[in-house]
Amino acid sequence: MAKYVYDFTEGNRNLKDLLGGKGANLAEMTNLGLPVPPGFTITTEACRYYLAEGRVPDGLQEEVERHLDELEQAMGRKLGQTDDPLLVSVRSGAKFSMPGMMETVLNIGLNDESVHGLAKQAGGNERFAWDSYRRLIQMFGKTVLGIDGAHFEGALDRLKGDREDTDLDAGELQGLVETFKGIVHEQAGREFPADPREQMRLAVMAVFDSWNAPRAILYRRQERIPADLGTAVNIVAMVFGNCGNDSGTGVAFTRDPGSGQQGVYGDYLQNAQGEDVVAGIRNTIPLQDLERLDKRCYDELLEIMATLENHYRDLCDIEFTIERGKLWMLQTRVGKRTAAAAFCIATQLVDQGLISIDEAVTRVTGDQLAKLMFPRFDADAAKSRIAKGMNASPGAAVGKAVFSSERAVELAGQGEDVILVRRETNPDDLSGMIAARGILTSRGGKTSHAAVVARGMGKTCVCGAEELEVSIEERRFAAPGGVTVSEGDVISIDGTTGEVFVGEVPVVDSPVVEYFEGKEAVREDDSLVRAVDRIMRHADEKRRLGVRANADTPEDAARARRFGAQGIGLCRTEHMFLGERRRLVEDLVLASGEEERQAALDALEPLQRADFAGIFRAMDGLPVTIRLIDPPLHEFLPDLTDLSVRVALADAGAGEASDKDRALLTAVKRLHEQNPMLGLRGVRLGLVIPGLFAMQVRAIAQAAKEVPGARPEIMIPLVAAVQELEAVREEAAGILAEAGVDALIGTMIETPRAALTAGQVAEAAQFFSFGTNDLTQMTWGFSRDDVEAAFFSRYLELGMFGVSPFETLDRDGVGRLVRLAADEGRAARPGLKLGICGEHGGDPDSVHFCHEAGLDYVSCSPFRIPVARLEAGRAALSQNDSDTR
Ligand code: PEP
Ligand code: MG
Repeated sequence: MAKYVYDFTEGNRNLKDLLGGKGANLAEMTNLGLPVPPGFTITTEACRYYLAEGRVPDGLQEEVERHLDELEQAMGRKLGQTDDPLLVSVRSGAKFSMPGMMETVLNIGLNDESVHGLAKQAGGNERFAWDSYRRLIQMFGKTVLGIDGAHFEGALDRLKGDREDTDLDAGELQGLVETFKGIVHEQAGREFPADPREQMRLAVMAVFDSWNAPRAILYRRQERIPADLGTAVNIVAMVFGNCGNDSGTGVAFTRDPGSGQQGVYGDYLQNAQGEDVVAGIRNTIPLQDLERLDKRCYDELLEIMATLENHYRDLCDIEFTIERGKLWMLQTRVGKRTAAAAFCIATQLVDQGLISIDEAVTRVTGDQLAKLMFPRFDADAAKSRIAKGMNASPGAAVGKAVFSSERAVELAGQGEDVILVRRETNPDDLSGMIAARGILTSRGGKTSHAAVVARGMGKTCVCGAEELEVSIEERRFAAPGGVTVSEGDVISIDGTTGEVFVGEVPVVDSPVVEYFEGKEAVREDDSLVRAVDRIMRHADEKRRLGVRANADTPEDAARARRFGAQGIGLCRTEHMFLGERRRLVEDLVLASGEEERQAALDALEPLQRADFAGIFRAMDGLPVTIRLIDPPLHEFLPDLTDLSVRVALADAGAGEASDKDRALLTAVKRLHEQNPMLGLRGVRLGLVIPGLFAMQVRAIAQAAKEVPGARPEIMIPLVAAVQELEAVREEAAGILAEAGVDALIGTMIETPRAALTAGQVAEAAQFFSFGTNDLTQMTWGFSRDDVEAAFFSRYLELGMFGVSPFETLDRDGVGRLVRLAADEGRAARPGLKLGICGEHGGDPDSVHFCHEAGLDYVSCSPFRIPVARLEAGRAALSQNDSDTR
């Protein structure tokens, strides 16, 4: 029979799939002998069963009862017992952390009787008991009974007036309990359940259900967390941070999650329960100040933090509670961090001897590296600073101030950059946070909801800018010095320094980009750059995959080399037919006979030769894969509608049209296709227009002779059958031989038929390069230019796929074709060189796929080359990524 419940003494940190992150780590801490309140975990498997079947699995209730009995025995108290009650918390905890997205209910076990027992337990502290009781009804009402939290918050605010919540006395809180019960009765049409076991049973189901709450679904989609994992539920004996001034609750990091620096980082809130810290009810104090309040607990906490860091060999974040001078650990996990901190921490841990440099490379991701390459504010620009808050998540963001998530989504949908400004955010603001360039709050610390979520998303965030008086109702904020910013005014926020500026501040490149650009001076004095340098060197040493660039100008080629490209994997020659040269393509299309066509090609040849020579020079002896012209010719001709109008107006005597215009119109009509992507392009064009490919091959050969050491590779696009390839290959090989130039001749694999007949195609190809843009288009039957805008957002919502297959290679379908073609190609021609040059070549997950499929290199746009190098190194070093998700 399935086991659905694990005591904390039974689990460990490797059981995250089953126990969720929180449960697995509570078990790990328990086993380390740290002060964890006793408890047990209901598995994710039980949750998945419940979500699928609409009821809890058979036997679960009995298993929970058994563990509850043991818990009661361990604590020497019974759940909700009248004179000396055990209270428990019911907490969600999925495999991957989803901060604030799912539900938690504290203080389960309280009712009109046990509240007195709790007061007695707390040495006659009536105030504490009634405060705990009102919190239970509030949380239960909101979470389990689905009542809008504003009803409770409104009642609390009315009672408080100008006072803090800690100023309310026992009598007032008792009155509030009655008010809250009334709200439950009115809003939910039922009474608040007094039976502690009923409270617990309903709370467990509410936590299961919260897996599918809209904000949790949205968060998972954003973070690419699979939708079918389910959450575990932790039932933990309550410890209380709200028993008085010798109690409190806090959050701590073993090092700064913003910069990676070692030290004491965290927030503490006296006389409060956990949710108060995250909700920003009162302002927290820095963790260091706890030393003054309770030196013994502070020292113990620091010792535990060191133990955890050594044990997990990584930055940990921690939630703790102090109950009347006794420290309790409520949670730990490998903590989220900014991209900069990830690199710094990884190399620091190497220096401390905690991890190897191999492991350090697996601890950072290409996405993090990409974030570090984002621009920052220009330090020399004139700026008008209006406030300074906390540097919660780095980066530079500029946009129009908006004061609600709805408005953020609306304006972002119209293509505007927006900064979401709130007093504090809550989980309902998620959609606005996703839509915004950056987030600014006037309340809450570095562990507030805004900070945690923004950091997780890699979004710029300044929080707790207390000088700002934010009025959500009036949609504006006032800053010191009489500055008022209204909705729509542009502001700039610096998540690295915490500064807020009015107006637009210009941005500059990041030092990491400057480092990649080869500015040695940067490396010397920037610890982040030093960390990136160390990791990149090691990734380069370990990776098996080569990294090339998609580049078709000497400038791009030069940048690609500086960024570490080992060659060009795709030079799209059609980009060389634009601008001034369109006229020559027009001549080619309009040519009426052999002679005219040759003349048009002869005019193009020296231009092409110069293009290629420039790229060969920039690449200085590295291989350059030149793809012969691919798109249909009509793309280079004037627009059909424009031409038709011009000619029609001329015919009506209302304008002028030349003979060439008329001839072009005829040609454009002749070349018009219903499905140009499936029409006369690529190799088909080379076969249908005599001399076109030959001209390009001659230009390549001549340029190669001109530039010593040039290593051209000629690539034929859109091949579907080996016969096509053979025909153009023969002609090209002849031209090369005549010129005395050595060059590989290969093909793109971008039609399903080419992949399926790769064994035949390889007979005529010296290399394959997977064109996964077209291969994805043709495998799914998705028009690559239309579908993403047309309906992918709906497809993503419906869970048809977790990410666009044009962004991350679809392993099951397109990936299968790639593997098949790679295997059959190599079987036919051992040692066949294999690369990829579709957009996927720079996508982290797809790079891992290419490594696994045995390709020789990936090719991507110059800016993504560092990401591809890093991911190729990570792929070589580990198949299982670290848990710093
Ligand atoms: C491809 O199809 O993946 C490819 C690289 O070619 P293009 O994007 O130019 O069609
Ligand atoms: Mg293509």
